Amino acid sequence: MIKINLSNSQRTKIENLHYEVIYHSLGKLKSINSIIETTFKKKYTLKDLLIGDNKILSSILQDYCKLSSRKKYNFLIHFKTYFISQYEKKLAVTPKNKNSYKYREEKYNAYVLCQTLNINVCPYCNKNYTLTISDIENDIFTRPTLDHFLDKATYPFFALSLYNLIPSCHICNSHIKKSKEFKFNTHLNPYFDDFNEIKKFTTDKKLLSLINKNDDFTLVFKNKKNVLPIDETKANNNIKDLGLDTLYNSHKDKVLELVDLSRAYNEDSLQSIVDTFQETKIFKDSNDLKRLLLCHHVEDPLCQDSCPKLMI
Ligand SMILES: [Zn+2]
Repeated sequence: MIKINLSNSQRTKIENLHYEVIYHSLGKLKSINSIIETTFKKKYTLKDLLIGDNKILSSILQDYCKLSSRKKYNFLIHFKTYFISQYEKKLAVTPKNKNSYKYREEKYNAYVLCQTLNINVCPYCNKNYTLTISDIENDIFTRPTLDHFLDKATYPFFALSLYNLIPSCHICNSHIKKSKEFKFNTHLNPYFDDFNEIKKFTTDKKLLSLINKNDDFTLVFKNKKNVLPIDETKANNNIKDLGLDTLYNSHKDKVLELVDLSRAYNEDSLQSIVDTFQETKIFKDSNDLKRLLLCHHVEDPLCQDSCPKLMI
C-alpha cells in the first residue's frame, strides 16, 4: 500500500473543485445541508461531509452511530437514493457523458478527480497500474475505479465524500476489498496514512540463501521501529483484508531477480561502473545506475511504478 501524497496546492484545488461543483449542482436539494445540521445539532455541514478529512469523517460516523434507530433511518433516507445516484450518474461517468457535474465553465467527474490526483499505480496493492486516459477524439477512456473506503451501501452519506473515494485497481476494489468493513480507526486510509512508515518487506529466510533460485521462502511484512500499536493493528488489517501477503508472494520471481542483481552489483561494482563512464556523464551517481538496473526509483517512496516497495 502507498500513500496518496498530495501537495498543498493539489489538495486545495481538488477540495475546492469537489465542493463547489457538487454544492452548486444540488439545486433545491441544497436543503440537505439543513438535514445534516439538524441531525447533528449544527456540529457538521454539507461541506464537512463532502471534503472533511479523516478526523471529521470519523467524528461524523461516531455521532451517526450514536443516533437512535429512528433518527438513523430518517437521516439515511435522504442520502440512500440521492447521493448514490449522484455518484453513479454524475461522478462515475465518462468525460463524454452530458450528465457530468458542471459549474460555470468547469466540468467535473471521476476522470477530472483522478487526473488531478495523478495516481498511476493502485494505492491499495501498489502493484497494478491505474492510469487515467481521457482521449475524447479517439473515444479511449480509462481510469482507476473509485473505491468507497467506508462502504457506500452501509454509509450512503459518504458516497460523495472526497477522502472516501480511493482511486484503486479493479482487482482490489471489486474482487478483494469488495464491501468489507473499513473504518478510519481500523484500517489505513491511503490519503492520510503511510503504510511504508509502518511495515517493510522481508523474507523468512536469509536473502543469501536464495541464490539458487529456490522459491521455497515466504515474503513477510515486518514492523519498522517505534510503530504505535494502533498503526500496527491498522496495517495488519490492511494486509489481511487486501490480501497483500498473498499478492506479494506471487512475485517471488522478482525477489530472486533482485537477489541476483544485488549480488552482481554491490556498492563497489556500481561505483566502479560509474567511474568508468564518468566522462560520458551517463550516470550521476551509483543510485542513478541502481535506478536503471532495478527499473524504478529506488529511493523515491512516492514512486508510481508497479511493486516499488518490494524493491526498496
Ligand atoms: Zn490494487
